Amino acid sequence: MADDIRHDWTRADIAALFALPFNELIFRAQSLHRKYFDAREVQISTLLSIKTGGCPEDCAYCPQSARYDTGVRAEKLMALNAVLDEARAAKAAGASRFCMGAAWREPKDRDVDSVCAMVEGVKSLGLETCATLGMLTKDHAKRLKNAGLDYYYHNLDTSPEFYSDIITTRTYQERLDTLAEVRAAGIAVCCGGIVGMGEDEADRAGLIATLAALDPHPESVPINALVRVAGTPLDDTAALEPLDFVRTIAVARIAMPKSVVRLSAGREEMSDETQALCFLAGANSIFYGPKLLTTPNPAADHDRALMERLGLRPMPA
Ligand code: SF4
Repeated sequence: MADDIRHDWTRADIAALFALPFNELIFRAQSLHRKYFDAREVQISTLLSIKTGGCPEDCAYCPQSARYDTGVRAEKLMALNAVLDEARAAKAAGASRFCMGAAWREPKDRDVDSVCAMVEGVKSLGLETCATLGMLTKDHAKRLKNAGLDYYYHNLDTSPEFYSDIITTRTYQERLDTLAEVRAAGIAVCCGGIVGMGEDEADRAGLIATLAALDPHPESVPINALVRVAGTPLDDTAALEPLDFVRTIAVARIAMPKSVVRLSAGREEMSDETQALCFLAGANSIFYGPKLLTTPNPAADHDRALMERLGLRPMPA
């Protein structure tokens, strides 16, 4: 096991994985996947936008940035009871983890109070809890941990080199600092990135190498395919070739063998066959539900049918 779990992956090592013949790459990824996981199990999370739109940040992919005219209206933080109703429904639909997302640069003290109450409520329903609220201070991370937060979702988005093409209002280092505060507070880390934003394969290798250098590796690694939203600067970006997406999943699985790799945003535009290849490449988590924050996601019925066709079953919490 010691040889599989490494934090010293170089860019060249990761680039060499990307360059493997496809079948060799998938075989290696699937072999490691079977070593650390039950290959029939898929962890299911549900993501709810608890505070939508009006974000001051300029992430070029995001319809919730106040800087882009995408038709997403700024809303207030949801009421506690409404969040708990959604969490109950997610549990009834088979989710084991409930993730709450707020379009903030960073939460204020009173926001953290409100989210802590939501975390306590969701936790009491028997669900794992996850939040994505922007940058966190040490104090905010500790308060969320004390409320029972299990996971914090904070992406690196892309490679350090390509990052400034995508966002200018916060630095890569600030993202790494938030991840360090989350880890120090004892909250599990959910961190990955987005591909298909116009980056090249070297950037995808740079993203995976940076994630794999985190020690410990993030417990959960979401790999998102860009959802091109009209009004955002990335609206007319050329779509990533599906096999390049599958390769990214496989390389993430090899570089971080014990992490749950999540097939995240962009599934709505993916064929069932591409998703099946992603599961073969080592993806073992999905977001379930009709929406991912503000963008569409496959209907739960379709997901259930696909899992059944592939002989997959939900991973217990
Ligand atoms: S990704 Fe998050 S931080 Fe960036 S604009 Fe969207 S809501 Fe704001």
